[in-house]
Amino acid sequence: MTIVSNFSDPQPPLSKGGYGGIVFIAPTPVGYRLGLQLWDGLPFQELWTRESTLDSIAPPGDRPVKTYRDSLAPVVAECWTRATQLIFVLPVGAVVRLIAPLLQQKATDPGVVAIAETGQFVVSVSGGHLGGADALTRRCAAVLGAEPVVTSASEGQQLPALDLLGRPYGWQRGRGDWTKIAAFITQQKPISVKQACGESLWQQMLPEGHPFRFDVEDDSLPQLWISDRLPPEENEEKTGRSRVCWHPRTLWLGLGCERGTAAEFIEASIRQVLRDRGLAWESVAGIASIALKQDEVAFQTLGDRYHWPRRFFNADELSQPSVPNPSEVVEQAVGTPSVAEAAALLSAQSQELLVTKQVFKGDGGACTIAVARASREYNPRRGHLYLIGSGPGSLNQLTAAARSALLDCDVVLGYGLYLDLLRPLFHPNQIVEASQITQEVQRAERAVALAQQGLTVGMVSSGDCGIYGMAGLVLECLAQNHWDGRSPSVEVMPGITALQAVAARVGAPLMHDFCAISLSNLMTPWEVIEKRLEAAARADFVVALYNPRSRTRTEGIEIALEIFRRWRSSQTPVAIARSLYRPGESVQCLTLEEVDVTQIDMLTVLLIGNSSTFLHRGHIITPRGYSVGASS
Ligand code: SAH
Repeated sequence: MTIVSNFSDPQPPLSKGGYGGIVFIAPTPVGYRLGLQLWDGLPFQELWTRESTLDSIAPPGDRPVKTYRDSLAPVVAECWTRATQLIFVLPVGAVVRLIAPLLQQKATDPGVVAIAETGQFVVSVSGGHLGGADALTRRCAAVLGAEPVVTSASEGQQLPALDLLGRPYGWQRGRGDWTKIAAFITQQKPISVKQACGESLWQQMLPEGHPFRFDVEDDSLPQLWISDRLPPEENEEKTGRSRVCWHPRTLWLGLGCERGTAAEFIEASIRQVLRDRGLAWESVAGIASIALKQDEVAFQTLGDRYHWPRRFFNADELSQPSVPNPSEVVEQAVGTPSVAEAAALLSAQSQELLVTKQVFKGDGGACTIAVARASREYNPRRGHLYLIGSGPGSLNQLTAAARSALLDCDVVLGYGLYLDLLRPLFHPNQIVEASQITQEVQRAERAVALAQQGLTVGMVSSGDCGIYGMAGLVLECLAQNHWDGRSPSVEVMPGITALQAVAARVGAPLMHDFCAISLSNLMTPWEVIEKRLEAAARADFVVALYNPRSRTRTEGIEIALEIFRRWRSSQTPVAIARSLYRPGESVQCLTLEEVDVTQIDMLTVLLIGNSSTFLHRGHIITPRGYSVGASS
């Protein structure tokens, strides 16, 4: 099936990761410098400072720095309406005074974050959930190496925030008493959950003893309702039940109309159809019709107004699905027996027609409406893949950028051991999926599939993600899926690889040309490995040996050492490092002749010096070629 014209799907107002439109306000030179530091890690829309600050520090060439002269209050008032978040480098008290007259309601106010001038603390001041201030606080803190101060109640209980629950999947919030249900959760009262459609990934991450009761028919419990239908109204009135609703976008509307029918008339008709069937307006995924209606003004108006994608199919395509109400008249007019029903089914890519063709006639024109349900919700967000190198182990060795990227993820995937090392960094709104070490291909395909669903996905490899890690495999999977290079977008966050880690532990052995060779012959034929070992040994490279010896693969390391012993002196320094920067780390410096292979396993990396590398009191040094001592 081809989509004749997909136009461009409307993107949600926020950019990648939900941080579009951040305005940074730092009156003083110190704060302004913090802003410049953060700018690389976070997409600010603009940075404001006092005019006099620029006397001492020039703005970076290509970035929009704005200045004010006297009072900050009008600047804040002006930014309030268009920013998604505001970050201040000011005392919390000053921030509170500035925003107090502007605060209206949680659902629309921007998130507000305050950073201490010392750069030590980042505080989520208001709009923690819906305004994104909690998430932004964590990311600023990660980039600055500061302490995040987040005081939302759900944080303490390791539970996902209910008012953010469906965001990654593009669900829309429906009616509900959000504050009341949040209070129930804080008091650890049980909440019944009715999820009829939409992604259930969020259920995976609930901690032990969580308050959610799935499919429990107990009307006395407050309820989390996840459906493209509205909850049954009577119950609510009978029991005074508290409820919050999320609506996955599963409903595709097939539309036909007389040319020039008013958008208002079509909208009112749609509202009536949905209301009569108990379907949620918020669950509308998009609208579909016949190709010759691409320029129908009402469809454009409704699409723009509600961020609905529009799908158009030609008559041949619309003739394919079997529909309950084919019409000869329609067939004679436009070449297909069905427009509304067929377009609904095709756009939903399903057989489930919830509402057969309904015809509306009035002063504003005439239209037909049918509704089909897609098996998977439409998510308007563009997926993003972070390919993250988590470094050798300790959180200290994780780059600030990688840390910030990890915080931005909806889902983090990786081998269990590496994810365990990162565990303290995750927050309860994230899904963390650990997998076995042998399941690399499945893991990469899973990451791609989730990103294609519109999620922000982090794929973690230890060390560097692109050195015997998952980055290449994920990109290969994307390439095989006819990836256009942009959607999902991909960002590779480098990490400290094992060879750098071992080098740092033993001195400076990589000061001259070096290479890495993996001894794993699972995917590389041993002849190739042996050829490279021989070439590296002959060419006098310092060599790091990755994957040196497994329980079943014990011979390779013997052959490798034999090759080096042939080309290098028996006194060549060698470092054998196990579990670098992890608990139980061991590092040994010895000579080529002393190496005992039984000490080597898959948690070990070996480093073999070149012909000029020397050992000095427990340090391995490879000369760069300077004449040391000659300068005096
Ligand atoms: N992407 C990783 C390498 C993965 S291959 C990186 O860039 O470091 C796995 C091999 O890397 C292991 O068999 C071992 O040889 C080496 N390795 C990775 N982390 C290590 C660590 N912390 N200590 C010692 N060796 C390590």
